[in-house]
Amino acid sequence: MRRPHRVLAGVAASATAAAGLLVTGGAPAGAAERVDNPYEGAKVYVNPIWAANAAAEPGGEAVADQPTGVWLDRISAIYGNDSPTTGSYGLRDHLDEALEQDADLVQIVIYNLPGRDCAALASNGELGPDELDRYESEYIDPIAEILSDPAYAGLRIVATIEIDSLPNLVTNVGSRPTATEQCDEMLANGNYVNGVGYALNKLGDIPNVYNYVDAGHHGWIGWDDNFEPSAEIMFEAANANGAEPSDVHGFIANTANYSALEEPHFDVDDVVNGQQVRAESSWIDWNRYVDELSFAQAFRQQAVEEGFDPGIGMLIDTSRNGWGGPDRPDGPGPTTSAEAYVEGGRVDRRIHVGNWCNQDGAGLGERPRANPEPGIDAYVWMKPPGESDGSSEEIPNDEGKGFDRMCDPTYGGNPRNGNSATGALPDAPISGHWFSAQFQQLLRNAYPPIGSDPGDPGDPGDPGDPGDPGDPGDPAGACTVDYGVQNQWNTGYVAQVTVHNTSSSAVSGWTLTFTNPNGQRVTSAWNATVSQQGDQVTATGSGWNGSIPAGGSVSFGFQGTLTAAHTTPTGFTLNGSTCD
Ligand code: BGC
Repeated sequence: MRRPHRVLAGVAASATAAAGLLVTGGAPAGAAERVDNPYEGAKVYVNPIWAANAAAEPGGEAVADQPTGVWLDRISAIYGNDSPTTGSYGLRDHLDEALEQDADLVQIVIYNLPGRDCAALASNGELGPDELDRYESEYIDPIAEILSDPAYAGLRIVATIEIDSLPNLVTNVGSRPTATEQCDEMLANGNYVNGVGYALNKLGDIPNVYNYVDAGHHGWIGWDDNFEPSAEIMFEAANANGAEPSDVHGFIANTANYSALEEPHFDVDDVVNGQQVRAESSWIDWNRYVDELSFAQAFRQQAVEEGFDPGIGMLIDTSRNGWGGPDRPDGPGPTTSAEAYVEGGRVDRRIHVGNWCNQDGAGLGERPRANPEPGIDAYVWMKPPGESDGSSEEIPNDEGKGFDRMCDPTYGGNPRNGNSATGALPDAPISGHWFSAQFQQLLRNAYPPIGSDPGDPGDPGDPGDPGDPGDPGDPAGACTVDYGVQNQWNTGYVAQVTVHNTSSSAVSGWTLTFTNPNGQRVTSAWNATVSQQGDQVTATGSGWNGSIPAGGSVSFGFQGTLTAAHTTPTGFTLNGSTCD
């Protein structure tokens, strides 16, 4: 049984602005007790440093208000180290800024294990394989101290724990052809397991921290040989160095990777022309999963079988797994052979599923949102899109970053990517640094595509854009609205509004307007910013609730006053288009 969901304290009174009523949404966090899904009803912190980098790119403003992860990728990042992507912000600055933003949730990435990134070089870190003591005392302890500050007790802090670490101890060790000396060493000295255990224990002691352990992605641990052993080693870490399984709130899949969320045109069990795709397609190559959603849901089950709490939830990093653009297949491949069928139909267009560095052709994926699918707490952008995975040639630096030829477009590969070409973009800076060309390609190939609506600040009022107010030729009927009164008394009422995007393109940035008749007035709202001028109500979503996928919906609620029987509002428009 999942623990009960927190009831949204939506009707709490909020401050009102003088001219017209302005009420900001997002359920208040407050209580110290952990909730089942921290993303539910939460306004998620937007990192202003990333937002500025994104907004500086042509068209980037359209997504610059999306929440991304704050990476604490070395000790100095805790205090602010003036690097090009972290700017001068330390952890406290981010948390203070989150309070300023009236956010409910901040996403941080714990990423500094001793001997980090043992199977790759691009993100090698500052701590040597034996420096567990420094990891504990100079890295985790100061982070835990800051996060325990009562000033931040009202924030939900999602901590994703050590990307690309534990599964390496399964897949890149011993007699496997993929083994590396460094991963063998990290298995033997126990410092990954004990480091993760330490982080889980210390951060898990803070009541408003939610630990999500990195669980790789389907193209790494989706094979039977890797799947259960990975869950096992995570359970081992969750019992090491003071940690307990209850310190783990869930797992995150696909962090900083490119694996597609869903492959819409084939399933792993498909058989075409007498051939099982799982066995006969070189892309799948006996993997048990073909996409992140099926993998993440199955991994959740496996982790529960291993002994983790049945209430755990998954996050999926969708920052760069969109695979849209003109090359996206719009139907299955030919059924002449398993190979042709999968090659023609797959939306993930990497050369090999083991490729991970600055993948050419990728696009932004699903915009961050809570509760998208059963077992999934949220789609998140933990890797800030536009930040490089590694340099395409050696670049000297003082961050401990090495040069990994998986980031070199001219390299022929190794056993970890089936000895194939890397598919990496050329001219990349070192990992974590801003990579403008990549960001622009991610924007172009976004899937769902970036909406072109006025609420989408990247594209203000382009003539002919569907949804621009007053734009002749706007198609009507691109939306429907469900409006319901949930509670009513003599002088007031509570209403819930669900806006459905019935068009075939995503709406990124939405504004709903309607006429509130009979002297009814909105007094407070949640999950949207709502204001009323005269009888005209304007509701705007932002952050986690800021976009509506094609065929999807968003909901918000409000409390209002009335003097007569409640009358249903009329004249709903979404970004200027009349709703049916
Ligand atoms: C880099 C980090 C960076 C992170 C987010 C990692 O690959 O090693 O330095 O903060 O990506 O971009």
